[in-house]
Amino acid sequence: MNDILRSSTCACGQVRCTGIGQPILSAVCYCDDCQAGGHQIESLPNAGAVLEDDGGTAYLTYRDDRFSCVEGAHLLVAYKIRERAPTQRFVASCCNTAMYLKFGPGHWVSAYRRRFEGDLPAIEMRTQTQFRASRAKLPDDAPSYRRFPPRLFWRLVLSRFAMMLGR
Ligand SMILES: [Zn+2]
Repeated sequence: MNDILRSSTCACGQVRCTGIGQPILSAVCYCDDCQAGGHQIESLPNAGAVLEDDGGTAYLTYRDDRFSCVEGAHLLVAYKIRERAPTQRFVASCCNTAMYLKFGPGHWVSAYRRRFEGDLPAIEMRTQTQFRASRAKLPDDAPSYRRFPPRLFWRLVLSRFAMMLGR
């Protein structure tokens, strides 16, 4: 099922990225870095919401070789929450739309779910809920974890092998 092609676009339509096949993971993260990174981008001029109402950030995480920016890549600007942070958040500078983040050492890209259209995979887990400040009840459509669960790392490891094997 690697032929599913999903597009994410910035608010003004100049930047478009695509993910091929099923993502490694469809998840919502509440970690302090994702919240800080989301707020940082939301504070840019004319930026739209990055975080969900309860402080979570929903991502579709793709292998590096299955995600790319196909239009307007020259408009992407990388933001970091601190100088030495390992993660860069790429923003379409035309309209200050958060597009995806890249954790330096990793083999994956986490694309902001809210920028995608069409039929999206269900949320599979919510991670780092220890940082969740909202008092709203957590949705029970997927398991929640206070940290990053072994299941998440296992998915990443398997996807790394698949990528090495060219599958
Ligand atoms: Zn734009």
